[in-house]
Amino acid sequence: MSKTKYIFVTGGVTSSLGKGIISASLAKLLQARGYRVTIQKFDPYINIDPGTMNPYEHGECYVTDDGAETDLDLGHYERFLGVTTSQANNVTTGRIYQTVIDKERQGQFLGKTVQVVPHITDEIKRRICLLGETGDYDIVITELGGTVGDIESLPFIESVRQIIWEKEDQECAVIHLTLVPYLAAAKELKTKPTQHSVKAMLEYGVQPDVLVCRTEHPLGADLRKKIALFCNVKANAVIESIDVETIYDVPLKMQKEKLDKVILSHLKLPNKVEPDLDSWKDFLWRLKNPKQEVNIAIVGKYVELPDAYKSIAEAFIHSGSENETKVRVQYLHSELINEENVKSKLDKFDGVLVAPGFGERGIEGKISTIKYVRENNIPFLGICLGMQCAVVEFARNVVGLEGASSSEMNPDTKYPVIDMMAEQKAIVKKGGTMRLGSYPCQITKGSKAYQAYGKGKIQERHRHRFEFNNKYLESFEKAGMQCTGVNPESHLVEIVEIAEHPWFVGVQFHPEYRSTVDNPHPLFVRFVKAAGEFAQKKD
Ligand code: GLN
Repeated sequence: MSKTKYIFVTGGVTSSLGKGIISASLAKLLQARGYRVTIQKFDPYINIDPGTMNPYEHGECYVTDDGAETDLDLGHYERFLGVTTSQANNVTTGRIYQTVIDKERQGQFLGKTVQVVPHITDEIKRRICLLGETGDYDIVITELGGTVGDIESLPFIESVRQIIWEKEDQECAVIHLTLVPYLAAAKELKTKPTQHSVKAMLEYGVQPDVLVCRTEHPLGADLRKKIALFCNVKANAVIESIDVETIYDVPLKMQKEKLDKVILSHLKLPNKVEPDLDSWKDFLWRLKNPKQEVNIAIVGKYVELPDAYKSIAEAFIHSGSENETKVRVQYLHSELINEENVKSKLDKFDGVLVAPGFGERGIEGKISTIKYVRENNIPFLGICLGMQCAVVEFARNVVGLEGASSSEMNPDTKYPVIDMMAEQKAIVKKGGTMRLGSYPCQITKGSKAYQAYGKGKIQERHRHRFEFNNKYLESFEKAGMQCTGVNPESHLVEIVEIAEHPWFVGVQFHPEYRSTVDNPHPLFVRFVKAAGEFAQKKD
């Protein structure tokens, strides 16, 4: 295979049209035809990464193996493709400017005036082509965040224009995602916003090759023809993206619309091999034909915005399909749970997940939740802060350490059972300074975690500052909470379990980031299984 090909995905009309899912779906189809594909996302905001952003602003912060704090779309890429991404797959305006400004301070521009064009656009272009130049990929899909016409998107669109100009004709393709709204009063789908959006692209010198039209109603042949004519694309390059039951239907829908074929023929790449999507179809079949149902509560404080727990929600979809079980997830606000109402709040659930998070808000609700599930044998999975809360609850109510806490919540606690690591204490900067990315963990044989993974050595991703305080390990183990997973080098506690409980597992890492369609995460799979068993016993 010769040169790497570049596909750019832009968005018009409104945000939230699902560029990430379309990009991931196209990548899936190309991968299923044997191409080596990766996806990267360029975000137009000034933050260096979303790591310091509140989940309400930006949804979940997705963490890669190499410890990059990235946009949640990277989670979709990994879940769809089953390949890992890295820092190189997510670049923000902030990062671009930081690089250029650092170079300027080092005098690398030799006395020149440093400008958006060419210096910022050169840096954008360099980063767009970085993964392509590794030789590891046949196709690099670049998703541009934001909407065409936004002030901050301009340097990115200009960079795409320049790359297309610099490369040969068949090296690049541009997919523009737009909305075709339905006006109920007129009983009509409207193409004008799409026309305007394409016009805006043309003003910047970029002609889309393919239009993916989000719509709530089928686009008729006439409408497709009209869009093609006025937007200057071939008739077969108007792709309908109608609302579907699950995001995992999108690759098949795009295959039906021949998005992959249109793109391959534009890029002059062979499309003889039909995509092998058998395992994907099996996954979907199991997802849509469950044999039983479980109710799972996710207890957290960002519940108003389910995107804050995106990877967890997706991991439940993967593990539900694996168990042929419909997982009904309900989000419960931790601030609204207390000792008095916890029974009525949790009564109907077959499993409870206490979510990751930062800061004190909602902590006591999480602790009341954990006490209830521990005492009532309800399957429990605690992730990161959820695990830390399980440790605090156990310290207070079983080990007998009254007032025990995490030093994140109460720096003056007499019993800091969760405490900051020595090397973290010296750090004052917030961005990118947590324990981030993949670390090894050794699991004890015979534990629930071992049963789930089926092996002792694992790697999982982290994003936290605080840790189990090993000073208390012995008293915990004596009281019945075991450390069943430990970092072999630092001896930091990674997994805690209560052997007497049917399924009580707390993990300091984030298993949800590694769950994919092809490899549902083993802890989620086992947790859903345990919830299924609990549900059956209840009936
Ligand atoms: N706030 C906790 C810490 O920093 C947990 C973080 C998390 O849940 N991701 O250790």
